[in-house]
Amino acid sequence: MKVPKILILGAGYGGLMTAKGLQKHLRPGEAEVTLVNQNSYHYITTKLHEPAAGTSHHDHARLAISSVIHPHRVNFIQDQVTSIDTIAKKVTLADHKDPLEYDYLVIGLGSAPETFGIKGLLENAFFIRSIDSVRMIREHMEYMFSQYAEDKKDELITIVVGGAGFTGIEYVGELVDRMPELCREYDIPLEKVRIVNIEAAPSVLPGFDPDLVNYATDYLKSKGVEFHINTPIAECTTEGVILKGGEEIKASTVVWTGGVRGNKLVEDAGIETMRGRVKVDGQLRAPGHEEIFIIGDSSLVFPSENERPYPPTAQIATQQGQFLGKNLVTVLRGGKMETFVYHTKGTIASLGRKEAIGVLGKNSKVMGIKASFVKRITELRWLYLLGGISLVLRKGKF
Ligand SMILES: Cc1cc2nc3c(=O)[nH]c(=O)nc-3n(C[C@H](O)[C@H](O)[C@H](O)COP(=O)(O)OP(=O)(O)OC[C@H]3O[C@@H](n4cnc5c(N)ncnc54)[C@H](O)[C@@H]3O)c2cc1C
Repeated sequence: MKVPKILILGAGYGGLMTAKGLQKHLRPGEAEVTLVNQNSYHYITTKLHEPAAGTSHHDHARLAISSVIHPHRVNFIQDQVTSIDTIAKKVTLADHKDPLEYDYLVIGLGSAPETFGIKGLLENAFFIRSIDSVRMIREHMEYMFSQYAEDKKDELITIVVGGAGFTGIEYVGELVDRMPELCREYDIPLEKVRIVNIEAAPSVLPGFDPDLVNYATDYLKSKGVEFHINTPIAECTTEGVILKGGEEIKASTVVWTGGVRGNKLVEDAGIETMRGRVKVDGQLRAPGHEEIFIIGDSSLVFPSENERPYPPTAQIATQQGQFLGKNLVTVLRGGKMETFVYHTKGTIASLGRKEAIGVLGKNSKVMGIKASFVKRITELRWLYLLGGISLVLRKGKF
């Protein structure tokens, strides 16, 4: 009998958790499971703002896929997916001549920056999205600081962060922690550095309780961060940014965190998308494709008909991966899949190492060092889910 082929694209929160689940629940020989990822490692996206600011080394934000995936259970291929053919049920990779065939496809390829059509953004801004990208941001920023010693131009030590959502605020918080050390290293007076956070929406951290928003902005302002709220960026140039009203902010480092859309490969595969993301059914399937499951940042899950979709988070991607890791086994055994239900455990946004704000469960507010502690616990929990206590002890930062 032909062994069914399950192909998982992307070893992010969703894809890796799916692979882990299948590795655990499938009997040997019950299916052929293949995981494809462009790097040999998984990056812990929720920590990428730290190496991007230079407050921790990028190795703390990645782990080898081989350390969590069993090679006898899951076949891992390191390569880049270049196209998905949903009719022939084949996936093409950059460095493999023969395409991969599948009976079941799990797409967990994450997101791409959403630029909202802002001119020059893709060409001139940095994005916090991978180990490569954050290494570049940190090194670029440091190089600009080192140049300031010779050429005292203010823009060299001005950092613009576009977007004051979750990622933007977390990054700004890390920058605030990083600056004293960086300024000492390059003999720059701390008060000369400008960290400018620009947001088009009427408030920072949209969706968060006003008390928490005020706590976050008061704290960051006390550390010298400048906010331009309700202020769309009209253009990003090689010199900095131009705001909608025409004002120019000269900055040698511009980091865009203003939003994400689904991975373009999904759209290109002819799957119906809304801003690059797929409205999946209760079993996480793409519309019209019984055998294709979409999880994580490329998927859209609605709590109910008239509500807005859940925001793309590691938390929902992880739960989707856990769901598929179990339910795909049910499908293979001829059973009926359950319906995916998302259980929010709350959200914590860090403001540097010792400060954070957030909500636990549905609406219990936390802030300050307590919230920061909870944030660390959630990071350790991810390591625990992937590799148990030994991975926590090996990779966890306490
Ligand atoms: C700085 C920052 C902080 C965040 N903090 C939080 C937080 O505290 N809590 C929270 O819940 N969420 C947080 N998020 C959001 C969260 O990280 C994402 O929602 C989550 O990573 C989505 O998981 P995913 O599985 O969809 O994709 P990802 O984790 O992005 O993984 C996608 C994988 O696919 C691979 N891939 C992509 N394209 C290809 C290709 N063509 N070929 C092969 N492989 C490919 C990538 O290399 C990657 O390994 C944060 C995001 C950022 C940027």
